[in-house]
Amino acid sequence: MNKQIKEIRKKIEEAEAIVVGGASGMSAASGFKFYYQCDEVFKMLAGSLENKYGFHSFFDGLYHKGPTRGERWALLLRTIKYIYDCHTGETYKDLAELLNGKNYYIATTNQDAQFYRTFPANKITQIQGDWRYWQCSSPCHDEIYHNESMVNKLHALIKNDSLPESYIPRCPHCEQDMAPWVRSYGFLQGDFYQKEMERYRNFLQKNANKKTVFLELGVGMMTPMFIKEPFMNMVYQWNRATYITINPQHAIIPKEIASKSIGINDDVALTLKRLLGKSTDGIEQLDKTLLFNPSRIY
Ligand SMILES: [Zn+2]
Repeated sequence: MNKQIKEIRKKIEEAEAIVVGGASGMSAASGFKFYYQCDEVFKMLAGSLENKYGFHSFFDGLYHKGPTRGERWALLLRTIKYIYDCHTGETYKDLAELLNGKNYYIATTNQDAQFYRTFPANKITQIQGDWRYWQCSSPCHDEIYHNESMVNKLHALIKNDSLPESYIPRCPHCEQDMAPWVRSYGFLQGDFYQKEMERYRNFLQKNANKKTVFLELGVGMMTPMFIKEPFMNMVYQWNRATYITINPQHAIIPKEIASKSIGINDDVALTLKRLLGKSTDGIEQLDKTLLFNPSRIY
């Protein structure tokens, strides 16, 4: 068995607390690549808008200036519906097995809610929001709205890759358009968000002097300030902490914490299988050349 895999298993086995940091690489390794790549899922979500405007991934489409409001909402509604309806990623199932019975907490920049498929909500904090909620785009008031039934209803009203303008959801208070509750200029960091962050901070404080493993999965360099840098800082400051990073591109370890760290420069899905002692047959390895390029800023 690979020496690093053996070491990580031992660290996890002995850990009194595990702080998981999960980012886009967790979902990409489970096959959810349409956010940054042109695959069959993206083509289904974009329909004719792909060729009409020349964008080739969900995020490119979302931030493209071309589509009308109705077209943008069609892309949004199809994507959110897909997030509700899609399968549960294999990496999430494997991580749940790995953490079973452990004292753990999960911080994630993912907005696709996959962690909620295999972990209880009170053990997760979403730093960048969640597509399953809407907020007022202004925002004029501090409330987020679960959107599943609205998404299903509005999805059925899409015509020619566009939602008729009269159906675009409006804020019940100020009549402005609603917006997905995900990081943007107007991202609502109100009561709900603060409580979620507080639960995460409490877990960290409670475990600061324990044998704690920081397990970083698929965290890239797009927003290192949310997971990667705090993890490195805490490992530096906490005497008994260990930093484990699994990432096919960015398994970076600063020299200051090198003696307390293990970096695996490999696919997250394969590595989780190996940690569980499972077969890796039939797992599609991510093509590193096609992975999201973090120098593109959104
Ligand atoms: Zn409003």
